[in-house]
Amino acid sequence: MRSTDHRASPEAPSREAPPRRDFLREKVAEDAASGRFGRPIHTRFPPEPNGFLHIGHAKSICLNFGVAREFAGRCNLRFDDTNPTTEDIRYVEAIRDDVRWLGFTWDDERFASDYFERLYEIAEMLVGAGKAYVDSQSEEAIRERRGTVTVPGTPSPYRERPVEENLGLLRRMRAGEFPDGTHVLRARIDMAHPNMLMRDPLLLRIRHASHYRRGSAWCVYPLYDFAHGLSDAFEGITHSFCTLEFKDNRELYQWLVREAGFERPPEQTEFARLELDYTVLSKRKLLRLVTDGHVTGWDDPRMPTIAGLRRRGVTPEAIRAFADRIGVARSDARIELATFEHAVRDDLNMRVPRVMAVLRPLKLVITNWPEGQVDMLDAPLYPHDVPLTGSRPVPFGRELWIERDDFMEDPPRKFFRLAPGREVRLRYGYLVTCTDVVKNAAGEVAEVRATYDPATRGGDAPDGRRVQGTIHWVSAAHAVAAEVRLYDRLFSVPEPDAVPEGQDFIASLNPESLVTIRGARIEPSIAADPPGTRNQFERTGYFMSDPLDSRPGALVYNRTVALRDSWAKVKDK
Ligand code: ATP
Ligand code: MG
Repeated sequence: MRSTDHRASPEAPSREAPPRRDFLREKVAEDAASGRFGRPIHTRFPPEPNGFLHIGHAKSICLNFGVAREFAGRCNLRFDDTNPTTEDIRYVEAIRDDVRWLGFTWDDERFASDYFERLYEIAEMLVGAGKAYVDSQSEEAIRERRGTVTVPGTPSPYRERPVEENLGLLRRMRAGEFPDGTHVLRARIDMAHPNMLMRDPLLLRIRHASHYRRGSAWCVYPLYDFAHGLSDAFEGITHSFCTLEFKDNRELYQWLVREAGFERPPEQTEFARLELDYTVLSKRKLLRLVTDGHVTGWDDPRMPTIAGLRRRGVTPEAIRAFADRIGVARSDARIELATFEHAVRDDLNMRVPRVMAVLRPLKLVITNWPEGQVDMLDAPLYPHDVPLTGSRPVPFGRELWIERDDFMEDPPRKFFRLAPGREVRLRYGYLVTCTDVVKNAAGEVAEVRATYDPATRGGDAPDGRRVQGTIHWVSAAHAVAAEVRLYDRLFSVPEPDAVPEGQDFIASLNPESLVTIRGARIEPSIAADPPGTRNQFERTGYFMSDPLDSRPGALVYNRTVALRDSWAKVKDK
């Protein structure tokens, strides 16, 4: 029906700027130039498959895959799956989908759970070298004896166990002879070390649990520090980027890869994690929203997950542009939600066709328009500043729907929309003047009546008279009904994580994060669009038909983002 099928039209030309040289890229450039690692630059993205990826992960994905691409290196997707109790194949699949959808391809796919054998061998090697021992205290007792920043820890009574005894116990741990919590393997470093993480950290613990990939093949599981750096080393990673909270872990990372005998081991560098206003970015908390039913699932369009953003209508290009815009820095900074929304609007503006939709319809009857007559107007799909062209026919008839908000019976002087006696432009159509209204039994305006000026087709008056307001509309006889879901921020406070002691972050959920409008009316040109089609509803926002719930005859639209930041206006008032 449309003269340009926007779905088939190529993605708008890439406007992604070359990434800025941040401190991480400076370092990689230096290492690449000096040939320090003796191998190509190699990064990895290492999610734990215990939930869906969120916008914070997208920052890490853009960084790791971006660096590999820019320096002609490689990037692995590694599932950091060393915790049998929280991980699931479903999350592995979701993570793969999300990384691909963001536009990245990994060189190798790896699983930390494939390294259990190698890690165990290293554990035996460390024991043999007197660098690790089996501690038979409880994890709680170990924690209590770790000391404080100013007080050195207390050595375990098992710290001086002979090598042979340690080896025997470790093998029996591995063989499944002991119940959970009876023994752990600890590195033997320094109980008075100024870095608390170096005070004989735990390496392996007993867990009789089924792992989603390894089943019950293992009952000793590596702790994060033991698995992470060594996994990097096994894969020949050169640059291991992680978020700032792992700064203190770097020393242990270095200790482990060196003790394991790696030459030119990978190097960990920390960067600021993304914190976004009015949302939480922790899989644990997002899981809680899902399991407690505060959202409809991981892909609820209000979720900051990649799956949620995708379903909402955000494009991968917008997410990449956002990641590029915020850059990577050495210290934590909260990012305003407005920054993200700007990136989304900038991207959609350049690629998304415009149509008219009336969310809260009010009947407008053009009394001097002949019954049954239809005028097919030709309306452009893109505004003039977008390098795409095309148009669609828009029917105009005697009965139209306009936005309830675009009419006021008793308006203030500066109201430039429709009101009794006032003239307004119907977008792409005619100038109309309101004559009177029809009210229902409750005294509410049920219908607005107007006359049109036949000389103003296209919206201009030949006599040059000025009409300030332009409103959108749809033909009542041709419009398609739809459900429209208006999403807003999920939390009503900027830092939902920073709740006072004893209070739950759930308490600050925004009760109006979803407003569902049934009976919106959209111009007929969209009727045959497949689910997942994006449009700008003029004057209202960017929308995408829901990929799961929308069906021909029962259309459902998600608002991706409003046209401007309505919260900024609230602040200005
Ligand atoms: P979460 O608390 O959400 O589970 P995580 O760091 O435990 O986060 P992982 O699956 O272990 O999640 O993370 C995979 C990678 O993504 C890590 O390298 C981590 O540093 C990075 N990452 C996670 N959250 C963020 C964030 N908010 N900003 C930037 N990078 C992040
Ligand atoms: Mg984690």
